[in-house]
Amino acid sequence: MTIEVWLERRAEDMARLLGRLVAVDSENPPGRALGRCAEVLREEMDRLGLAPEIIPVADPAGGSADPCVVRGTAGDGDGLVYFHGHFDVVPAQDRAQFTPVRRDGRIIGRGTADMKGGIVSMLYGAAAAKALGLLGAGRIVLHLVCDEETGSVAGAGHLRAAGLIDPAALAMLTAEPSGGGIWNAARGAVSVRVDIQGREAHVGQAHRGVNAFQHMLHIARPVERYAAELAERHTGFPLNPADAPGSMLVVGGASGSGANFNVVPGAAYFTVDGRYNPEEDLEAELRRLTALIEGAAEEVGATVSVRTTQLQPSAGTGQDHPAAATLARVVGDVEGAPARFELCAGILETRWYAQLGIPAFGYGPGRLDVSHGPDEYVEEAAMRRCAAVYARYASAMLA
Ligand SMILES: [Zn+2]
Repeated sequence: MTIEVWLERRAEDMARLLGRLVAVDSENPPGRALGRCAEVLREEMDRLGLAPEIIPVADPAGGSADPCVVRGTAGDGDGLVYFHGHFDVVPAQDRAQFTPVRRDGRIIGRGTADMKGGIVSMLYGAAAAKALGLLGAGRIVLHLVCDEETGSVAGAGHLRAAGLIDPAALAMLTAEPSGGGIWNAARGAVSVRVDIQGREAHVGQAHRGVNAFQHMLHIARPVERYAAELAERHTGFPLNPADAPGSMLVVGGASGSGANFNVVPGAAYFTVDGRYNPEEDLEAELRRLTALIEGAAEEVGATVSVRTTQLQPSAGTGQDHPAAATLARVVGDVEGAPARFELCAGILETRWYAQLGIPAFGYGPGRLDVSHGPDEYVEEAAMRRCAAVYARYASAMLA
C-alpha cells in the first residue's frame, strides 16, 4: 500500500482528531487547558502506537493549566528524525472558534492552521511510516510543546536543557503554517523594555517636576532612526513575496506614562521589539541598541534602565545541505511542483535544534495569512499531503 492510500483511508480519523483538538481551548496566554489538550494527544498517540509520555514542565508565565510536553516515538532504530509541534494557540477573536466547522474540504477553527492541523499531519505521517515499515534502522521522535506562543522556554527550552534533544539527530521538522514553502531559516528576536524615571509634581508647580514622558520622546528618536537603518539591511535568504527583506524593529509596541493628566509624569516606559535577519549578530545589535538609548538619556540628564525581555537566536540551514535537498525532493514529489525555500518572517522553534547543529525546517499544511486571525482554517487535502511528506521524508532520511 502506498503512503497516500494509507492516509486517504484515514481521512475521517484525521478530521475527527483535529476537531477534538480544536474543541480544547488551549489559549496561550494565559495557558488554558494545556493538560486537557495533552491528554487528547496522549490518547490518540497511544491508539496510533506512538508510545506517548507526558513530561510536566515549569509554568511558563504563572497561571498555566498543567503545562507539559507530549513526547512520542515511532520505530526503534538508531537514526533519528524529530517531528516538533506546539498545541497552544493564540487567544480566539470569538469563542465560536472553539467549535470546529467542517465545510468544503476545510476545517475551520482556532489553531487549525497554527498548528493543530500540522500536529495531526505529523501524528499520521509518523504512524503511516511505522505501519508501512518505512523507518528502516531509524526512529521518529515527536515533541509536542505547550508554550510556543509565549516564547517556548518552558517547553522546547526544557527539552534542550534536560538533554532530550540529541545533537546527533539527522533532521528536525516543525509543522508551522509555511503554506507549502519550506522555511529553512528564521529571524532572531531581541526585545527590551525601557523605563524612564522622572519626578512627579502638581501641574501648577510643573517646574518642580521632571517629566519622564518628555525624556521618553527624546530617547525614542534615535531608536526610530536605528529601525529605519535596520530596514535597509537586507537578507540574502529567499523571501516570501509578501515579506520585506530588512530586519524589523517596532518601537513603542507597548508604552505608557504618568498617573493623571494634571500631574507631571514621574515614570514612563516603552518597548522595542526587533526581528533580526540571520546574518545579524544579535549580541552586538543589543549592545548598539542599549548604547543608543543610554546615550540619548545622558543628553537630557534622564534616568533610564534597559531590561532585555527576550533574546532568541536566529536559525538557518542552507538549502544545499543534504537534509534540505532531500526535503525539497520529497516535497516536489508529493506536491507535483518544485519546492521553494523561504526565510520565515518570525521566529521559529527550529532554533532550539539548529543551535545544536541539527538541520531544521518549518513545513506545515496551514497558511500563515489566516493564522492568528478570525477565519483560521486548514485544507484537509493539504493535511494529508503534508502527512505524506513527513512519512516520506522520515523514510528517505532513515531507511
Ligand atoms: Zn505556530
